[in-house]
Amino acid sequence: MKKLILNPERCKGCSLCIKVCPDKVLEYDTAGFNAHGCHPVKWKGSCRLCGMCYLICPDYVFEIRDEATLER
Ligand code: SF4
Ligand code: SF4
Repeated sequence: MKKLILNPERCKGCSLCIKVCPDKVLEYDTAGFNAHGCHPVKWKGSCRLCGMCYLICPDYVFEIRDEATLER
């Protein structure tokens, strides 16, 4: 089974993924800053794994992985 991974340290806060998400389940995590000095994106709701955020993010924040290989 596929799983979408989010690496908040890579996020530069461009908002492209937030705009493209069809279900509007991405938002900025205003609780803290990452290494770029940005509020990184986080999920606020259930994700349907459409892959749009993965395709549009210029900074490789999202990864699609097989659940069986996640711990490796
Ligand atoms: S995979 Fe699709 S539904 Fe899930 S967060 Fe990304 S754009 Fe939104
Ligand atoms: S598209 Fe990538 S860099 Fe831009 S806000 Fe989304 S996760 Fe961050």
